[in-house]
Amino acid sequence: MHELSIAMSIVDIARDAVEKAGAREVEHIELEIGQLAGIELPALDFAWSEAVRDSVLARATREIRHIPGEARCMECQTTFPIQALYESCPTCSSPFTDIIHGKELRVHALTVH
Ligand SMILES: [Zn+2]
Repeated sequence: MHELSIAMSIVDIARDAVEKAGAREVEHIELEIGQLAGIELPALDFAWSEAVRDSVLARATREIRHIPGEARCMECQTTFPIQALYESCPTCSSPFTDIIHGKELRVHALTVH
């Protein structure tokens, strides 16, 4: 399952951070997840409870920031919100766009102790 490998890689990141800080465990973790990142949140929740068991994240509180999709037209430079990949520019109808937000999947902040 895609989300389980994501959850496990987050556990790895957290373990590294705890070791570097000489701490015992993570108190709070903030994730940034773009709306176009292809993450199913219920699946991630399920995977999370498996992945964090007996890890440095076992007792951490978790916060998820959802990043809405945004693209910039490569023809006219308009930026516009998108709900899906490959939406055309609303101003000039160009199909050539850059996704500037919405594909994020990262650990934004960790509090360790
Ligand atoms: Zn355009």
